[in-house]
Amino acid sequence: MQILPTLWQQNCVLCTDDAKNAALCPTCQSDLPNMPDSLCPICALPVSEPGILCGSCLKHPPAYGRTLAAYAYSFPLDRLVHAFKYHHQFSLLDTLTAPLVEALQYHPRPDAILPMPLHPGRLRERGYNQALLLAQHLARQLKLPLLTHSCQRTRATAEQAHLTREQRLENLRGAFACDATVQGLHIAIVDDVMTSGSSVQHLAQSLKQAGASAVECWVVARALHIH
Ligand SMILES: [Zn+2]
Ligand SMILES: [Zn+2]
Repeated sequence: MQILPTLWQQNCVLCTDDAKNAALCPTCQSDLPNMPDSLCPICALPVSEPGILCGSCLKHPPAYGRTLAAYAYSFPLDRLVHAFKYHHQFSLLDTLTAPLVEALQYHPRPDAILPMPLHPGRLRERGYNQALLLAQHLARQLKLPLLTHSCQRTRATAEQAHLTREQRLENLRGAFACDATVQGLHIAIVDDVMTSGSSVQHLAQSLKQAGASAVECWVVARALHIH
């Protein structure tokens, strides 16, 4: 399988069959890894029955109160996220966000949406912040305000994926600064992938310290098997 790094794709991004100008053909679309039914409402990890909290959230409640995930982070969703994040495959925006838009028809809405900030150095390397593109798209679809300047990454951090849990927490200490524009607001953080949850936890803590009343997380893909 090959993912073509083109901006406009008329064939399926995954199998190159005719997708009728959508990003994916109907077969690949229906094969995407959905989230399981029984999830911890706070962190979106699998639990034994719907609605109960996982042991980790019971013991150490995170600074965010809810997580909504569009898909499970497994094949071929990982390919799609990679193509979107590194290869300008923006035709995937609808596919990647559709389950979130659908879920939010039935959930209370936050006051504003905030993309996971990218450090300016990373932004220069990559050319765009994938979380900002996702957040812009969701803000348009859901008619919610978008906060683009309320939080900054104050230093470049190592890519979280390559670190252990302890290194992740250390890596992010003091990594975000949020200003008073978030005061009193219920904010949804938007990011592409949630792995350990330590990035959203640190950003949520910074938002709460700056006066946000509540924080939740919306992600395209949730890693369900974390170490
Ligand atoms: Zn296909
Ligand atoms: Zn949990």
